[in-house]
Amino acid sequence: MTSSERDVAWWPPFSRADEGSSPDGPPVLVRGDGVWLEALDGRRLLDGVGALEAMAVGHGRQRLVDVAARQMSELAFLDVFRYTSLPALGLADKLIDIAPSGMDRVLFTPGGSEAVETALKLALQYHWVRGDHDRRLVICRNGAYHGVTFGAMNCDGGYYSTRNDVYLGSTRFGVVAEGPATGEGWGMGAPYAAGAQQFAEAIERVGPQNVAAVIVDPCATASGVAAAPPSDLVALRALCDQHGILLIADEVITGFCRTGTMFASQLADVTPDLMTVSKALSSGYMPIGATIVNERVTTAINDAEGRDAVFAHGHTYGGHPVACAVASENIAILEEERLDLAAAARGQYLRARLGELATHDTFVDARGIGMLNGLELLPGGDADAGRFGTAASACVWLRKRLRDIGLVTLTVHPGRVFLLAPPLIVSEAELDTLVEMLDQGLSDLEAAR
Ligand code: PLP
Repeated sequence: MTSSERDVAWWPPFSRADEGSSPDGPPVLVRGDGVWLEALDGRRLLDGVGALEAMAVGHGRQRLVDVAARQMSELAFLDVFRYTSLPALGLADKLIDIAPSGMDRVLFTPGGSEAVETALKLALQYHWVRGDHDRRLVICRNGAYHGVTFGAMNCDGGYYSTRNDVYLGSTRFGVVAEGPATGEGWGMGAPYAAGAQQFAEAIERVGPQNVAAVIVDPCATASGVAAAPPSDLVALRALCDQHGILLIADEVITGFCRTGTMFASQLADVTPDLMTVSKALSSGYMPIGATIVNERVTTAINDAEGRDAVFAHGHTYGGHPVACAVASENIAILEEERLDLAAAARGQYLRARLGELATHDTFVDARGIGMLNGLELLPGGDADAGRFGTAASACVWLRKRLRDIGLVTLTVHPGRVFLLAPPLIVSEAELDTLVEMLDQGLSDLEAAR
């Protein structure tokens, strides 16, 4: 398609440029209310992925709109490098209050990738100022997704990107811990994520003296929604301590009640050295992320000499006052409405209901933690895909079919695991509707393949 034939200028994420113009391209949404979304053509869709896992408190919360409007009319923006605002100070204090004990500083970012980037740079600076100049490698899970910036790309298992190796060239510092994990608690279906054992092997392979950090999402969401048992994070913490390696917990998805506690690290009673958050920090009402820093890291850098003590890093939109005000109000709602407990209880209910889909021969496993769940399909993989050729293509077809039925879903690594993570305010009746739609979709897939 040439630019003169183009009817939509927008290039959608992770897509061909012309997908925005395709009749089969991303539908336009115009409204949201609770767990429901409304498309431009008037159709209602159940938000089964909570707006890319960001939406905790539900769409259409007037309370957040009012806070944003008030802050925007008082002070919409400022030079965040030389000044600060009451919302930014208040939110930083609140995050330290609710984070695992031992965390003591907050750096704000515009989103999740930048929070990861910030954490990686802090990890490298931590080792540098302590004279540990060889520690430059970062170990990540296979199939992980930590964002799209160059540092985050380094910590990508390679599934979500096609040309990272070419782009990164000699700047690659990420090392993939090859899975899959084994052992109790990883879910009944084939797990795709590496666990502590695979991390230990990767560290031995490259030499612990060369490793700066381990980065993990505590529930391995992108790696097949493999609900890493809390014991895995405990084992990773011990492994890092043994080798003087920093532990980065990427809680961009798991943070803010999604797994049934404020942060998934708290399920394991683990304090990371660096923690990255975004998404449900504001329930997506404003773009914002943060890197939360353990006192050990702050102190090492702060006590360094001269320029080494300065963290030369910041974003124009880091600590945006409107985003910070909205995030604080969002956290207040999470706490007042005990959405941690809601996520735990309704997540259990959802998994029980998903288990009933086992009557379908396309069903493999329903697993997850809190309101972060995966439905794995097609036990035979590509051999079960029929006319679709590959399991991944069959699941793309099913994702679109579910959209027609009225359910928003997405697939993660290895392309046949559907993520089910509706807003945390979802009711049991709405979860019943979600399962009915899946039931219909699976029957349609079985007839169509
Ligand atoms: N880390 C994790 C675990 C994520 O899931 C994501 C995004 O999905 C990111 C980082 C990157 O966040 P963003 O898309 O806000 O840059």
